Amino acid sequence: MKAVYFNQHGDESVLQYGALPEPQVATGKVLIQIKACALNHLDLWVRRGIPGSRLPLPHILGSDISGVVAEVGAGVAQVKVGDEIFVSPGTSCGVCEWCLTGVDNNCRHYGVIGENSSGGYAEYLAVPGVNVMPKPANLSFVEAAAFPLTFLTSWEMLVTKCRVRPGDFVLVLAAGSGVGVAAVQIAKLHGAIVIAAAGSAEKLEKVKNLGADFFINYEEQNFREEVMKLTSKRGADIIFEHVGEKTWPESIKTLARGGRLVTCGATTGYNATMDLRYLFSKNLQIFGSIMGSKGTMLRLADFFRAGKFKPVIDRVLPLAEAQQAHRILARREQFGKVVLEI
Ligand code: ZN
Repeated sequence: MKAVYFNQHGDESVLQYGALPEPQVATGKVLIQIKACALNHLDLWVRRGIPGSRLPLPHILGSDISGVVAEVGAGVAQVKVGDEIFVSPGTSCGVCEWCLTGVDNNCRHYGVIGENSSGGYAEYLAVPGVNVMPKPANLSFVEAAAFPLTFLTSWEMLVTKCRVRPGDFVLVLAAGSGVGVAAVQIAKLHGAIVIAAAGSAEKLEKVKNLGADFFINYEEQNFREEVMKLTSKRGADIIFEHVGEKTWPESIKTLARGGRLVTCGATTGYNATMDLRYLFSKNLQIFGSIMGSKGTMLRLADFFRAGKFKPVIDRVLPLAEAQQAHRILARREQFGKVVLEI
């Protein structure tokens, strides 16, 4: 099969387009003929090499996958050959306390397809049967590949962790990012008042189309002052972020009493500091969050089916142009998903 893979870690030039053996379908697995695979920043980190993680090489990247069922292994009953599907990106043991409680993203064997195992930059991929989910019929393959990882992450952060409610002021930092775009839509669906913050007027202009209520350009404005103005000094009930070090101290001061801060990353650095007096005196809560459960993924697909969310796609490239796709992400030129079509 045709695939994009790498034999050593490094810059985008390590990505090779060529032929690899087609995967075998084992018991409990399903062979997918891949139609589209969307990129995530995770792909760049895995390509460069994550400290402490050793991958068998060659490795195929790609966590957001849609396609058609090509072959069904023994023990899988819920899908048949020809079904149009998308792949839930998280894998887990399926038998531990966390998995059986439905919190499979807390399984100690939790992994992400494309990060810890082979991914979707290829014509075929075998995945566990439980990860195969029906594609919303109203979405194209490209659209169906454009939502799983980011919407799952953002839903888990805002709904499962922060319990967003109607009327909450939700400040989304880096609102133009993949998870930011999802967060704006999820917060709006729950009746929140969304303050979108981003580093460029161009990105903010695009976020306007997603329904955010207020906009802050944090290259030009102090986001804490702006939030205090917009909320009549109440502060933000929820701050959604993955910026980390650079904005953390100000974020803590920007929270309303009883406010919740949730993070899924640390793009500007992980040595964040804070004044603990704010934490206890204002009854604040801080959540860390990674991915979400398979049950949440199924639920999310229903909202796409009902037209409540829209996947945001920056551009579609052929699989052979994966290097170019990585360059676009590295320069943060995109708004929404860069998708490889296969
Ligand atoms: Zn488990």
